[in-house]
Amino acid sequence: MISVKFLIIEDKDADYELLVRSIQKHDIKADFVRVLDAQDMRKALIDHNFDAVVSDYILPKLTGLEALRLFKSFKLNIPFITLSDTGAEDIALEMMREGADDYVVKSHIERLYHSVIHLLHKYESIRQKVKLDKAIKESKEQYRLIAENATDMITRHDLLGFYNYVSTSSYTLLGYAPADLLSKNAYDFLHPDDLEKVKSGLNEFLKMGLGIHTTSYRYKKKDGNYVWIESTNKLTFKENTGEIEGVISISRDITERKLFESKLEEKIKELDTFIYRSSHDLKGPLASLQGLINVSKSEVQDIKAKEYIGLIERSVNHLDNILMDLLNITRITQGSIKYSKLNLATLISDTISSFENLAEYKKIEWLLDIDENILLITDKSLINNVLHNVIINAIKYYDRNKSNSFVKIVAHTYNQNVELIIEDNGEGIPEELQKNIFDMFFRGNTKSSGTGLGLYIVKNAVEKLGGQIELKSKENKGSKFTITLPLNLEIVQSNELKFLN
Ligand code: ADP
Repeated sequence: MISVKFLIIEDKDADYELLVRSIQKHDIKADFVRVLDAQDMRKALIDHNFDAVVSDYILPKLTGLEALRLFKSFKLNIPFITLSDTGAEDIALEMMREGADDYVVKSHIERLYHSVIHLLHKYESIRQKVKLDKAIKESKEQYRLIAENATDMITRHDLLGFYNYVSTSSYTLLGYAPADLLSKNAYDFLHPDDLEKVKSGLNEFLKMGLGIHTTSYRYKKKDGNYVWIESTNKLTFKENTGEIEGVISISRDITERKLFESKLEEKIKELDTFIYRSSHDLKGPLASLQGLINVSKSEVQDIKAKEYIGLIERSVNHLDNILMDLLNITRITQGSIKYSKLNLATLISDTISSFENLAEYKKIEWLLDIDENILLITDKSLINNVLHNVIINAIKYYDRNKSNSFVKIVAHTYNQNVELIIEDNGEGIPEELQKNIFDMFFRGNTKSSGTGLGLYIVKNAVEKLGGQIELKSKENKGSKFTITLPLNLEIVQSNELKFLN
């Protein structure tokens, strides 16, 4: 049941009684406060929380108009209804003009209840709307505050690149006030060398129609200098149709990061050159040393001296292996890819044959399940590096305690890839070491006389070949390397280039 508190301004007792009864007839909890003059009216308005005011239009001490003005001065947002006598509608209309909400003719006092209910609903919905407007205003204000105080610049532009919102951080980031950029086209500020890359990247993003797209480019600042910017873009959609409307971007200055990256790249290149040059230069004296060892081996007769020469030879060979691996690494990281069409089965059998002279070779059963027709378009030297290093490990780490040692090589194609599995039942790799075995100079086996660079080379070569490598191993049970490579590296690379551009 609704409860309504009325302020009634009515001097005639009979009229007041009629009025109260006409309300109480209904299913409503009504309270009435009756006043006759301005002083009591003011006091009542201060002391009570009314829901509606009903006022006669003429009283001995107060006119209806005065009552209305006094009521208005309280700014209460509740309805004010004028009571009028039949034939005095013109006064009632004047009251309406002054801001009364309705008038009820006393001879039809039963209409008062309906008028009150209707007006209470009206005022309630106005209150709700005011509340909602306030909440919307507050949240807009919050967004504005975030946008204006963020150091990152927030912008919105349409599908052609025209800005329709720019946050004030444009000033600190680019030197432009938001008004300088509004209605301008973002593409007009891009460095000519970056324009196509950004445009095609955004077009791809629009085609996908979802997610987040990050792009970096050079942007011309107000002072004419370029700054490196990274933008994270998200699409915006039309509210009613769901169509893509534009893009909202958050952009930041990455000039320092770019400078650091290019310095880092330069340093990496320098380091690679250093490794390459020093390994290369050390190869010369090492070759003379190997020559001298060979001469000494045939000429020196002394048993003890022969033993020492043998030890020197082992160390020199180890050093030679390290230099070869280091040269290999720089070739892999720095060298360009040379494509050729290769038969995988032939590559594998050639690699296995190259190990025929190793003592362990004969102790291993070779199980091959290779599709003879697999043709790869890839880099021969890189793939040979991968095969050589993974297969020689399967041989080196065979389990001397087992009588049925095997190395199993399986290769099959799926989609546009080849899956190559090299599995052995050798010593296996303890679980805690598995995360490190692709690291540079990591040797996980006390018996290893290698350089600890083999699997590092493999990982780098596989990545350069656009593939992946995975290891599964159990100590004393064996190891399984699964390598996935694209059948046609040339196509993969040209697609990547297209996307980058
Ligand atoms: P290394 O010169 O020591 O052979 P690698 O980089 O080729 O260096 O391998 C790193 C380590 O991974 C090895 O020292 C060895 O512990 C382990 N490992 C690699 N392949 C195998 C395998 N097939 N079976 C057992 N252990 C292996």
